Formats: sequence, C-alpha cells, structure tokens
Amino acid sequence: MKYFLLFIAVLCISGKSDAQFRKYFDSKTLRLDYYHCGNAGSEQFFFDELIEEPYWAGSETKLIDTNGFGNHVVEVRTADTGELIYSRGYCTLFDEWQTTPEAKTTDCCYPESVVMPFPREKVVVSITSRNKKGVFEKKFEFTVDPKSYFIKKEREQLPVFDVVNSGDPSKKVDLVLLPEGYTEDQQELFKADCQKFAEEFFRYAPYSENKDKFNIRGVWAPSKQAGPDIPGEHMWNNTRLNGSYYTFDSERYLMVDDYQGIRDVAGNAPYDYIYILANTSKYGGGAVYNFYGISAAHHVDETGKIYIHEFGHLFAGLGDEYVGGVEYSEFYPTNLEPWEPNLTTLVSFDKKWKNMLSEETKIPTPVKAANNEKLGVYEGGGYVTKGVYRPWINCLMNNLHTIDVFCPVCSKSIQNAIHFNCE
Ligand SMILES: [Zn+2]
Repeated sequence: MKYFLLFIAVLCISGKSDAQFRKYFDSKTLRLDYYHCGNAGSEQFFFDELIEEPYWAGSETKLIDTNGFGNHVVEVRTADTGELIYSRGYCTLFDEWQTTPEAKTTDCCYPESVVMPFPREKVVVSITSRNKKGVFEKKFEFTVDPKSYFIKKEREQLPVFDVVNSGDPSKKVDLVLLPEGYTEDQQELFKADCQKFAEEFFRYAPYSENKDKFNIRGVWAPSKQAGPDIPGEHMWNNTRLNGSYYTFDSERYLMVDDYQGIRDVAGNAPYDYIYILANTSKYGGGAVYNFYGISAAHHVDETGKIYIHEFGHLFAGLGDEYVGGVEYSEFYPTNLEPWEPNLTTLVSFDKKWKNMLSEETKIPTPVKAANNEKLGVYEGGGYVTKGVYRPWINCLMNNLHTIDVFCPVCSKSIQNAIHFNCE
C-alpha cells in the first residue's frame, strides 16, 4: 500500500510540473532579439524583433533559474497576474567589452538575444543586470502577445545530424555544434570534427560518467572561405558566423560578435547550449556563460582540453582560475564576491566551497608541492595575482597544458549543472 501511495505521489509531482509547463507554454521557442549598447559606465537594451523557432529543448520542470549565476537574468511573467513563469541567468560578450580600455572612450552595440519556451498567453519579458554593488536592476521590459502576426516565422532551413542521441531533449543537456569557416566541400570534415568533439568531451570527468545525460547534434552551414579572421595577421575570411581571433586585441581570444547570427543557425536543432567548431589549427577560443562557446577544431595537441575548458565557462559558469592573459580592468572587483562558483574574493566565502574544506586548511593556503591536489584557497585567479582566490593549485580551468582534471569545486559545479538541465 505504501508503495502504491508513493507511486501515486510521484505521478502527481511529475504530472503537476508538466501541467505547469503546458499551462503556460507550447513546446517551441520564442526568441527576442535586442541590441546591448553602452560604454564602460552605462548599458542600454534596444528591442529588435521576435522570432518563432520550432523546438524547445529546455527542462519542462526547472523553469525558474535557482543557480544565481550570470550578469543578467531574463524573466518572463504572465501579463495579467505578474507571476514569474520562466527565468535564466546569462552573460554576454558586451559585458567583457565594458571592462576593456576601448569602452572608456567609445560607445558600442552588440546584437544579442534571449530565448524562452513559447508562451500561450500575453507575457512581460524583462532583463535585469547586476550593478556595481552586485544587485540586480531592471534594464529592459517588453510585453509579448504570442498571437501577434509580427512574430517572425521565416528562417533558413539547414541540415541537422545526430552526433550523440540519448533521448528526450527536455530531460537531457542538448548541445548543438555549429561550423565556422568550413567551405562547401568540407561537410564530411565538419561531421568528423563533431565526432571528435564528442570523443574528447566524454574523455574527461565528470562528463565521462554522464554520457547518457547529453544529446549532441550538428547543423551544417558552409562558409565561402576557410577559417576565422586573424586581424593581427591581416587575414580576413568570408565565413558564415564571422569568427575572429584578436577579440579585444587578445590574439588567442577567438569569438563571434553577432550572437543573433549564431542563433539563426542553431535554431535548426533542439538545443540548450551552442558550441562552435572553428576550422583552424590556430590555438584559441572563448566562451561566455549561457551564451556560446567556440574554439579551434584542429589544434595539434590540445583541441579536446580547450573544448572542455571553454565548455566549463559556457555550461557551469566557471571562471578562469589563471593569472594574466587578458587586459581587463577590475574584472573581479575585490570588494564584491564574484558569482562564479570556483572563484572567491573571501567577501562571502561561506557561499562558496568553505564547507568542502578540511578543518585545518589555512586561508589563504600556501602554494607548495605538498598541496598539489589539496583543496584550499590559493591566491591568484580571475586574471589577477592578488585578491582573487582559486580552489586548487591547478585545474582544467587554470593551466590546462599541465593537467587533465577539474578541481573538486569545478567538478561539483558541472555535476550540478547537469542535474539542473536533466530534470
Ligand atoms: Zn577548478
């Protein structure tokens, strides 16, 4: 009898959340495109357009984001009662640009977009941003009538193929791989690179023990010329996504400015996360939390490790544990606790990995050979030597050339992200 009641209870719980999803949403995507503009000291959001896309791959039960990650949160509320029915945290390339020297003297706009399951009734979509004190402020609001004939339905249809198929997209992490700088005659090369991505990806823990939680698909979209731009070498190629090295004048920082152009290609498949394979052997890549990731598909030694490192940013909101590398000013203000789970300024260390430390651990923990693989609080991380601390001396989010594993804090964060996406 007990078992029977338990069975009924389980049915009710899952029935209720599925019903909740269906009460508010249809299983396809509403995409809201906007421009994210401003300079080092200000930001504004300008509405662009609404687009209907055919799939919704996200969880139908975890509709509200409880992770607390990201510089922005998109929130969807019912227009009549104001009930919060969907939210997701994310970051953007514009956020990073704001900390570059250029942003002190120039205004700039980046094309961006947010997605949500397609609402059945009128909703209010808002975007909030963290201010300099770390508090969220509303920056944008737009009322969407899902019956409006201005919601664009036209799109370019591109071929999609399975790389790994583990089942129902609403209960899996759905990864879509996009090609950058593969020419018309390189489709087979791209497919082979997608296979290689999957092989490399599942070589590293904790992904290796969670293969059944992931779907991986590829979308084929050829470029006129091969390989992304390399401005520092005066190399400009006509490619589908307009990928470029030297982002913010950092040679190895390979990124794409036009996120809307990326979404146009990605929307052909059900997806939660976008990763772009660049047809080049030049070391480099980049990724932004809940935005997209990109890296070189043909680097001689470390293609797989770069995938894993960048995917850590995109998927689990992990910060860089290394020192140097980029010319950001005050990327992590030391009077604020960063939201990244694997970095701390010790302002609110209780919220981080303090409960995972053994009692005798010194804070800060000295960097010495005896402490290799000891969980601690090591000074140096988030690009700077002072004031930002990391959990392990080395980790795949630090110097990936010399290590093959994530630290326990990064591993746990990745595991949590898998869990959040698969319920
Ligand atoms: Zn780590």
